[in-house]
Amino acid sequence: MGFLSKLFGTEGPAPAAASKPAVPTSGVKIHPSVDNGVSPAAPGFSGGTLKCKCGSDKVEVTLTGQTAHNHVCGCTKCWKPAGAVFSQIAVISRDNVTVSAHAEKLSIVDPSAAIQRYACTGCGTHMYGRIENQGHPFYGLDFVHTELSPQSGWSPAEFAAFVSSIIESGVDPSRMDGIRARLRELGLEPYDCLSPPLMDAIATHVAKQSGALPA
Ligand SMILES: [Zn+2]
Ligand SMILES: [Zn+2]
Repeated sequence: MGFLSKLFGTEGPAPAAASKPAVPTSGVKIHPSVDNGVSPAAPGFSGGTLKCKCGSDKVEVTLTGQTAHNHVCGCTKCWKPAGAVFSQIAVISRDNVTVSAHAEKLSIVDPSAAIQRYACTGCGTHMYGRIENQGHPFYGLDFVHTELSPQSGWSPAEFAAFVSSIIESGVDPSRMDGIRARLRELGLEPYDCLSPPLMDAIATHVAKQSGALPA
């Protein structure tokens, strides 16, 4: 006898009245990199380049390694391709990030933000985000959009962060059930902050700084 059966005292299927109607997900778009399914990482993948969307003199960033913690993000700060509701963003050690062409076109979107997002002044694409505050939980990691790369095999999106924040960008709240259902269908568990492992990493960092945990 299963746990639920013990709880509710029935072995049969749940009565029809109790089952929720399925949320329709057809036509719900998240981000072009995941809308047709999430592709797995290539074994042994060791990096590649990111290119901005200018027609010529493209800014190019070289990543000498695989990315981690890739996810779709609903916040209002991350760069999104035209028409997308979510961005897709991953991290990589800052030691593995170099601007390899047209660095002169880069400008920091908001110098006062915790993450300094370097955008191309020609096309607006964010090429990488960097944290300069050494006390920040994610200091040492740069934020990158691997969809800007001609190579395939990057680490796949694993979850959806800051999902409720898409409403701040103008998404009608009535669409949220369908969007969360589609994210789950894609295997991208929706969270309204970061994923539990990343929230735990932030809290651990804060606790070590305060002395609540041994450093
Ligand atoms: Zn550009
Ligand atoms: Zn974001």
